[in-house]
Amino acid sequence: PAAQPATPHPETVLRTVFGLPGFRGQQAAVVERVVAGGDAIVLMPTGGGKSLCYQLPSLCRPGVGIVISPLIALMRNQVAAMHQLGLNAAALNSSLSGPERAKVRASLRAGQLDLLYVAPERLMMPDFLEMLDETQIALFAIDEAHCVSQWGHDFRPEYLQLAELARRFPRVPRIALTATADMQSREDIRRRLCLDNAELFLASFDRPNIRYAVVPKAAPQRQLLSFLRAHPGESGIVYCLSRATVEQTAAFLKASGINALPYHAKLDPELRSKHQDAFLAEEGLILVATVAFGMGIDKPDVRFVVHLDLPGSLEAFYQETGRAGRDGMPAETLLLYGMQDLVFRRQMIEQSGSPPDVKRVERAKLDALLGVCETASCRRQAILAHFGETMAQPCGNCDTCLTPAETWDATTAARKALSAILRTGQSFGTGHLVDLLLGVKTDKITRFNHDQLPTFGVGTELDRKGWGSLFRQLIVRGLIEVNHDAFGALCMAAAAEPVLRGQEQVHLRRERSPRAANAAVKKK
Ligand code: ADP
Ligand code: ZN
Repeated sequence: PAAQPATPHPETVLRTVFGLPGFRGQQAAVVERVVAGGDAIVLMPTGGGKSLCYQLPSLCRPGVGIVISPLIALMRNQVAAMHQLGLNAAALNSSLSGPERAKVRASLRAGQLDLLYVAPERLMMPDFLEMLDETQIALFAIDEAHCVSQWGHDFRPEYLQLAELARRFPRVPRIALTATADMQSREDIRRRLCLDNAELFLASFDRPNIRYAVVPKAAPQRQLLSFLRAHPGESGIVYCLSRATVEQTAAFLKASGINALPYHAKLDPELRSKHQDAFLAEEGLILVATVAFGMGIDKPDVRFVVHLDLPGSLEAFYQETGRAGRDGMPAETLLLYGMQDLVFRRQMIEQSGSPPDVKRVERAKLDALLGVCETASCRRQAILAHFGETMAQPCGNCDTCLTPAETWDATTAARKALSAILRTGQSFGTGHLVDLLLGVKTDKITRFNHDQLPTFGVGTELDRKGWGSLFRQLIVRGLIEVNHDAFGALCMAAAAEPVLRGQEQVHLRRERSPRAANAAVKKK
């Protein structure tokens, strides 16, 4: 074999091959780590520049970089982008014909590829692994690595097999990348992909150019229309829960003279890719879609994302809104938040047939989103807090920062709630505690003699919904903790002590009627 050329310097490759003047954020550190042969876990928001973190080391190390990706569309875009840079990249997936596949394998064997994108199930086929045994590999990049977590909304069982790479190719560095930031996914990625020695690179998940707004759902179509009228000529995505809503909404928009197309999994495949291509190519087109649309779509100038229905988790909400403003220019998001959606989402979890511990995590993820919906303070602070990030100041770019929410002094009510938690031994969930506060004699209340407690029936100033909102807001603020190991039992957090002792007040967001909230939005 020919002599190995000297390994090029990352900065040089960055300039000469990628045409970029410098690294962004943690890219330099990640690249250095991987080029040196170390493993890495990279958590960066969408648009943060993850691709460079494995593309560049692939070029700096001898051999081919193997990129594991779950989505054919994503692979196709990336390979095209690599070709534009004059690199030798290919993809192996189910969309290729037999001869096409043979051609890719031949160039892999001949050592001609800089980068090979491959679907996980294809990578793990015995004959393909055998071929890799004979190939010089620069690195393995595991893209969308959160797919390994069964808690997430994108779980792909075939990702679990990727743990085998650690055993089979112990000398090849592995880099796992994702834009999903929650703690559970982080742990799952490390554990399930055997990345014990990987260095964690955690970028801030703030997307400062995205404005967040949550509005009670009243007349969704009318609310959507007035939002769209304020964004003429802009491209955006409108997410709906069901196919039927997608079709109805797209038809309604078209009838209202707005350039909109539907997109969902059951749409004829040809039409579906036609609509997707139109959205990518045209300006000022609105795609009304189910969550089937989005992952791996790289349209930098999406100016807004509207949720007509409540997503199932804060992660899903963050991912979906994250498709707006990838170019860094101002972008807006709007979530219509209805009581019925909430009930429906809860039901979906309860009736999912999942094991109890999975349900518990799903409930917590939904509750985290509800917390963001109900917070009286900065939405961005609440979102980032969920990802373990603290933001010192309110952001100034969300609806509660721009139009402060009406709040009420909830100190007394909060103390009653805390007292209910303490007097029942911090062992019960919201439903039971609300029964206690309202003085409802359920079987469970009598069975535990909770009707004998001084807290029984002291909370009639709020109704069930009001207490539910209060509990959720106290959870969001860290005054109450949910014990997920004890079936969602609520516990008092240390931070609540000053409130209980009467040294600190609590002000919570007042639930506005949808009509009032709608009027407030219109006025803006
Ligand atoms: P992600 O995969 O994290 O969503 P990408 O890798 O697609 O993000 O990068 C998002 C955009 O940022 C791309 O257009 C990319 O070219 C650009 N980009 C990445 N790194 C840099 C950099 N160091 N300097 C300038 N632009 C960059
Ligand atoms: Zn804010």
